This record gives sequence, C-alpha cells and structure tokens, in this order.
Amino acid sequence: MNLAKRRSVISSSGIRRVFDLAAKMKDPINLSIGLPDFDVPDTIKEAAVAAIRGGKNRYTLTGGIPALRQEVLALYGRRGIKFEDAMISSGTSGALVLLFMTLLDPGDEVLIADPYFVMYKHLVRMVGANPVFVDTYPDFRLTRERLEAAITPRTKMIVCNSPANPTGLVYTEAEARMLAEFAEERDLWLVSDEIYDLFTYDEEFVSPARFAKKPIVVSGLSKTVAMTGWRMGWIAGPTEVVQAATEFQQYTFVCSPSMVQEASLIGIHYDTTPYRDEYKARRDLVYSGLIEAGYTVTRPGGAFYIFPEAPGGDATAFVEEAIKNNLLVIPGNVFSERNTHFRISYAQSREKLQAGIDVMTQLIGKFPGRK
Ligand code: PMP
Repeated sequence: MNLAKRRSVISSSGIRRVFDLAAKMKDPINLSIGLPDFDVPDTIKEAAVAAIRGGKNRYTLTGGIPALRQEVLALYGRRGIKFEDAMISSGTSGALVLLFMTLLDPGDEVLIADPYFVMYKHLVRMVGANPVFVDTYPDFRLTRERLEAAITPRTKMIVCNSPANPTGLVYTEAEARMLAEFAEERDLWLVSDEIYDLFTYDEEFVSPARFAKKPIVVSGLSKTVAMTGWRMGWIAGPTEVVQAATEFQQYTFVCSPSMVQEASLIGIHYDTTPYRDEYKARRDLVYSGLIEAGYTVTRPGGAFYIFPEAPGGDATAFVEEAIKNNLLVIPGNVFSERNTHFRISYAQSREKLQAGIDVMTQLIGKFPGRK
C-alpha cells in the first residue's frame, strides 16, 4: 500500500516474536509489564467520577486547567526548581511528541543513553531527526566522555531519563550536574523524562533540571498513581517552548481528558510512600535472588525494572527458553542496539517474583557458556 515513508522508520519487530510466543502462554509468570500492579487509588477515582457528574466534560483550555498547571509548577517549586511555565499533555508520551515537534528539525541529532525507553528512538525518527545512541554498558552510567564521543555539529538535544527504564539507574547529583553543564556548554536542549521520580530506593532523586539554565522536564502520573490509561502528563520549561508545544497540542490532541485533569489535582498530592516501600522490598528480593542464582546484574536504584545479562549472551535465545518455562521477560534489543541483557519488571506480587526467580535459577544452568 502507498503509505508514507515515515511508516518505515518505526517498527515493533524486536518484540513481535516474543509477543507471538507469549500469546500461546497460559497464566504465565509475567514480569514483562511496565506499569504498576495496583489500581488507581479510590480518592482519585472518586474525584474523576465527581468531575464527570459535575459536568466537567468539555474541552479544557489547550494547555490544561489553570489550577493543575499551577500544581505542576508548585510541585517543582517545593523541590527548589523554578520553571517559567507548564502545560498539561495527554500523558508523558504526548508531552514527548509535542516537544520533539517543537524543538527538532529533520537531520537534527538527539543523544540518547543506550539502553533507552523505546519510544524516544521512534519519536525522534517520526519528526525526521536522528537518534544517536550513547552506549552505557556495562554500568549504564552516562558520563561526559561517553557524551563527548557521540556529539556532532548536528546534535540538538539530549534526552535523559532517571530513574531509568529499562535499567533502574538513578543519576547521582554529580551526574545530574554534569548533564546540565554539558548541555549548556554545547548549547543543547536537555529534556529530562522524570516519570519515575517518586520511586528511588537508596537516595533522593536529583533532577538535572536543578542545575540547568533552560531545563525541560516531562513527567506525569501514569506510574506514580497507576493512571496509565487516563492519559495525563506535563511539560515544564521555558515559556516559549511550553507555549509552542501548547499550539501543537491545539492541532493534535486538543487537551488531556477533562475529568482526568480534575482528578489529577488530587493525584498529584497522593502519598506514594507505601508503593515505594513495597517496590523497594521487591527490588531487594529480585536483585538478591538473581545474584544468588549467578546472574551478572547492576543493582537498580529506582523505577521498577532490573536489567540483567542474559546467560549465554544472546537475549532472544534466553527469553525463548524462559517462555518455554512459562516466564515472560523482555529481550534487551527492545531497549537497545545490543541484545545481551533482558528486562524484568518487578511491578508484580512478591509471590510471582519468587516464582520468576525460581525459574531463572533453573534456567541459568541450561546456558553453560554463560559469562
Ligand atoms: N517515559 C518512560 C521512561 C516510560 O517508561 C513511560 C511508560 N512506559 C513513558 C514515558 C510514557 O508514560 P505515559 O503513560 O505518561 O505516556
């Protein structure tokens, strides 16, 4: 069919084979899902229902309801970060679409730490720009040397993500500062995806935005209060950027759902500490289980993912074997230019996680050539 050339720059081939195999599984130990295993808290649901009943069902202002925009600015204000402006988008994904349309021209290059959240690479290509992957194996740290090796005169932006999907890496304060300084020295946009910001387990989250002159943050409530299907996110940054992104929203998404924005006024204040404590216990369970079984793995500091090396070195072969044993995890090439690791999501009950660890403990013995 005569589809646009743009069609060919996106693909889901990396994961398709795994999903085909997974479709045949009955009641798998599913450690592949990148979203919380709890439901939206009742107070937030009630607020959405009340908004619908109260007639909050029309288009809102394109940039979002003013009270919620204020809440977003206040949230960062409490962390000592003063943004000029904020707008409400249809999820963090929507925020990224609008930002890339606002800031990238065809041929521009965007530095992305590899492993990466898969959407970045496709969205960058959809606007005609080119992702440049900064390999961060084996420790997943984004260093100045690694960035310098990847920069060219066409580089326009760095997209960073801490706590990170799929590695769980959390930037240290020194790394956050380096990123901000590097972006400023080289006159690059720094876009910080902070959707997992409330889930760090060893130290407080430090945003690179704290040290940047013109920082841009994208985030939302999908992960923190489990609203993945509700589609609410935001962009906080310089007025000119936020206003341009809002204009792109006017001609695309129009607005984030009205009742969701109303409920987010409650959601943005929700105390997520119990979730964090539970994820931390699960992180410890999975990490120590993997180490005991003999896996090579970096201890994640946040989000709800862990990214071990695949025994034998070929992630697809390993994942296929895992699926045969009723365990679903995702091969590294979905998130990377390499295919040597695999992603486990520990947003699952401890019981399921233990069952997964038991299978992985068995599996490692089947790969004698493991590193
Ligand atoms: N950024 C990262 C790093 C993510 O992992 C996800 C969701 N998997 C998103 C953005 C998109 O989230 P949203 O539901 O807000 O669009």
